[in-house]
Amino acid sequence: MEFLAREFIKQKRESIPHNGNDIEKFISLYLAGEVPDYQMSSWLMAAFLNGLDAKEATALTKAMLTSGYQFDFTHLKELKIDKHSTGGVGDKTSMILAPLVAACGIRVPMIAGRGLGHTGGTLDKLEAIQNFNTRISKEEFIQGVEKNYFSIMGQTEEICPADKRIYSLRDVTATIESVPLICASIMSKKLAEGIDGLVMDVKVGSGAFMKTLDQATLLAESLRDIALNYGCSFSALITDMDQPLGRHCGNANEIYECEQILKNTEEANADYVDCKNLSLELAAHMVKLGKNCDLDSAKEQVLEALESGRAWDLFLKLVEQQGGTYNITKPIYDKDILAEQDGYLSNFNTEAIGIAGIQLGAGRKVVSDKIDPLAGIYVHKSIGDKVSKGEVIFSIYAQNKDTYASAEELLRSSFSLANEAVPRSELVKKIIC
Ligand code: URA
Repeated sequence: MEFLAREFIKQKRESIPHNGNDIEKFISLYLAGEVPDYQMSSWLMAAFLNGLDAKEATALTKAMLTSGYQFDFTHLKELKIDKHSTGGVGDKTSMILAPLVAACGIRVPMIAGRGLGHTGGTLDKLEAIQNFNTRISKEEFIQGVEKNYFSIMGQTEEICPADKRIYSLRDVTATIESVPLICASIMSKKLAEGIDGLVMDVKVGSGAFMKTLDQATLLAESLRDIALNYGCSFSALITDMDQPLGRHCGNANEIYECEQILKNTEEANADYVDCKNLSLELAAHMVKLGKNCDLDSAKEQVLEALESGRAWDLFLKLVEQQGGTYNITKPIYDKDILAEQDGYLSNFNTEAIGIAGIQLGAGRKVVSDKIDPLAGIYVHKSIGDKVSKGEVIFSIYAQNKDTYASAEELLRSSFSLANEAVPRSELVKKIIC
């Protein structure tokens, strides 16, 4: 029977489940230019409103995965494990985890993303390092994984092209925030890396796309179902994004924080404890999947890789392999935002902090914007901290000082002080295996 895109869209409009073959047909006709953007947009909205069940989401993942090139690392005997975060503010763990887990003898082929909405992106942060090339070829990516045990690149036209095109359509048709569409999009790119296991960091809170624990749990469970259908081992940590992770938010300054953590410096152990602890926790879950060991043994291996300096050495090898020269120095901040009264820090609007970063030039307002790699924010206080009038809450820096007024306005209204002490936020809220 002839496949009619209109009938396929109508099925979803009437909440009738699709069969896998029809999903594959629809995606391949779209890539071939035989289904136009308006029919894809219409189907995306129907799928957004009426949902996709686990079978449909798995079939969509397969259609997007097989639309492009898939890495094959089966010639390497070690297991291949990656981590992916749903995105947040100050979320810099990928640059710590990849060398740390590689230093434990696990292969980490990582396809990373750019800033999305108010959240930062690993590729933009790495590009703060002089000449660091995130647009490497697939051959160079494979070489990195073979030689240094890990490599980091961006999605190309060849990797999941169906996802690349559909994602841009979703961005402009208000169909991003759908659990099955997000799952198929993330999992197709992760499975294209040729991995055996995946650890997801599902962010929840005021700076995350998932604002509630229920939404984050649903997303984590749906990702797990698809991963397991592909024989990919899986763990998800649902982690706090009610405040920025660590202290620095931006690009070069975040790399500096990663350097301190990877070198296990006094500064890291005094100032970046949350970011360090979360990195160690995520790394341990990756090692657990990669070595089939228990979590305690995984934690020991991760700590040893950090304390021995091997993880930092591997990071420098990544920089060299991808054409960069490590030139990051201690970040400069030149404007402070002070508390106007005494109290206890009770709440951050973390999304507003991310947007203030964009105003300063640390992210893009439109796709063509050029990032200021030195622009950023230092967050001095955490939820639960006692604050006195006149104490510094944020420090900011941008090369273009004209950006300060709008960023300052956002930052001033991005936190609340309470009269009574409030409990500290829990870093890891739930683990889903
Ligand atoms: N990240 C992705 O890669 N895809 C989505 O749909 C959302 C976040």
